[in-house]
This record gives sequence, C-alpha cells and structure tokens, in this order.
Amino acid sequence: MAAAFCLLTACSAASPRQVQRGLQLVLDHRAAPAVDTIEVFVCAVPLPTDDPIYGTLPLRLDLSAKTIAAAMEAHVRPYFTQLSHGRYQPHFTAGTTLTMDAGETHDHCVDRALDASAVDVAAVLVVANAEHLSTEPGGWGKPGAACPTSFCRAASTRRSAYVGASDFHPDNGTVPLLDLIEHELGHTLDLPHSGDAAAAYDSALDVMSNSAAPREVQPGRKDAQDTIAIDRLELGWLSAADVTVAPAGGGRFDLLPSNGDDVGGGTRLLVLPVSDLTFLTVEYLDNTGLDDALPVAGIAVHRIDQSPGVCTKPAAGVCAGIDREQIALGSAPPHTDLLRAAGTTWTVDGWTIAATGSVAGDAPGRAGVEVHATGG
Ligand SMILES: [Zn+2]
Repeated sequence: MAAAFCLLTACSAASPRQVQRGLQLVLDHRAAPAVDTIEVFVCAVPLPTDDPIYGTLPLRLDLSAKTIAAAMEAHVRPYFTQLSHGRYQPHFTAGTTLTMDAGETHDHCVDRALDASAVDVAAVLVVANAEHLSTEPGGWGKPGAACPTSFCRAASTRRSAYVGASDFHPDNGTVPLLDLIEHELGHTLDLPHSGDAAAAYDSALDVMSNSAAPREVQPGRKDAQDTIAIDRLELGWLSAADVTVAPAGGGRFDLLPSNGDDVGGGTRLLVLPVSDLTFLTVEYLDNTGLDDALPVAGIAVHRIDQSPGVCTKPAAGVCAGIDREQIALGSAPPHTDLLRAAGTTWTVDGWTIAATGSVAGDAPGRAGVEVHATGG
C-alpha cells in the first residue's frame, strides 16, 4: 500500500507510464473471434469407473452430442451474443459419443475428443453422462495454446471445456442449466476467475465467478449473469476509447454502464493506477439485461493484478489472460452491495472512491464518482 501511494503522489510523474503496462497487457490481448465453432462431444462413463471425479455415483444420462449441440445453439449462442453486444457468436456442431473404458479419466476422454474434432473446429465442449461427486468441481475450461492466426484447430491448440452431467439432469427440464457451461466457455476465451484461488466463486457480479448466483434469486433461471468491464476489454467488447485513466490527482467522472448498450462518447471503465502491473477498475453496473438479478445498480471496484506473484507459471514475467488476478473490493461477498448512495465512499489500495449521487439524478443512466489518491 505504501509503495502504491508513493507511485501515485511523490512518484506521480511515473504513474501514467507505469499503469499503461498493466492496462496495455489487457488492451493487447487477442480479441475474441466474431464467430467461433465449437464441437460437442459426449463421454459415456462406464460403471464402475476408476475416475475419482465420479466416485461410485450410479446415474448415467442418455445424452447425445446432437441434442446438446442444438440446445447450445438455441440458448448459449444467444447468451454470448447478448453478453458481447453482438461481437461474439459461438456456433455449436455435433461430434460423437466417446465410450470411456474403466481405467480412463475424463481428461483422457477430452483428449480423444480434441483428436477427433473436425478441421474447422476451434474448441470442443465435452459433456460426461455421469454426475461428479459433490466434492468435485463441476467442470473446467482451458484457452489452449495461443493462436497467432485468425483460426487455429482445436486439435492443435487443445482449447476445450468439460462439464459433468449434473446440469443435464431431467429434473432441470427440457433446457439444461447453462451457467456453468457459459463460465467454462469463458475460460476457453482466456478469461480468469473474479477472485483469488481461495475465493474464486465468491462474486455474484461476474459469470467468471459464481455463475449460479442469478438462479439463487431467480428460480428457473438457466443463464449466467453478465461479466465485468475488464473482461470485456480483454476480449475486445470494450475499446480503449471506452476507458479513462484517472490522473494522479484524481477527479470527477460520469460513468456509463459497463454492461449497457454501446452509445459512444462516454467512459465505461475508469482505471485507477496502483503500480506497474496493478490497477483498480471502477465501473457502473446497471441491474438490467443479464444483470437483472442484481438487487441494485451501482459502482463496482476490482483490483486487477498481473504481477508475476499471482500465478504459478508467469509467462514473460506477467500473469495475463486466464492467469490475471481480479478481486472485487469494497464490499463483502457476494459483492452485490454496490457503491451507490451519494456521499458514500470506499477507500481501497491508496484510492478513495466516492459516489456523487447522479445514478438516478440529473444524468439518468450514468453514475457519478469522485476519486482521490489517499494520504499515507
Ligand atoms: Zn472456472
């Protein structure tokens, strides 16, 4: 904290250049493709199986890749179209059912799906027909190896997402639960969790944290919530023109909703420099659209840290993309108690952030904030 304060005041001349490195890493990230082809496979899990993720649970669902691909096309594609404001459209195709042998793990089955994927497929989505033990994670997603061209085959990059069968249980109705799949597909786009390893699923503000949070207040909901501004920026769904970097002396800013429609000409993400590879994001989240389960609209603050210490294998000395650490600040989990009432403040990481009360005032659809670097 002391070092951060130095950067912002006594060393203020250096801070614009220093924050630019962290922010530039996000701006430099490869944008999500406009169209993404994802092939669906089913892994048929034997009973018994040696894979400990299933234990001795006996349920085996009658799943087909064709039916799942159709459901993803009908429901997950529109989710991402809405999430990205039309900039990203996944397209799902049907692969096959791969029968596992008793000694095979789900990871092996995903490898086989990748090897079998079509030449025009950029990622695979693999669904097991068996549920996971309740002590195990529901699935995983991996961005795979970097793709330097406009398209790379899944068989080459190993870009993949995997989930167990729980969300496809008939008790969920004809449409499966979709939020976990949407979360894992976010990982295939190189998005990290909101939250460190100890609190990866604590935030209700981001599909990349507790993606089931909307269902806790909207029974019957299938889709996840929206995402946060830093993830939009990484994937090219916000541009540098939507971002304002606060000067060392702070100031007053009007924020357009980061999760709202593109209207142009305003700040949708306010960046507060902290250190070379760390900064705060300040954004206004409206509680409409995919975020209609949020109890209130208001201002969210996250610490974005790409320092080499926040991931286990920093590449080129930074932890970018899926290795980036981003943590909701200012409120307790699930972080839905957003900053909103005029005059209320949060003081975090060397900055004081105050709501100025224009959320529903003379500038409807905007939130006013005043930020200052705090004294040591
Ligand atoms: Zn995850």
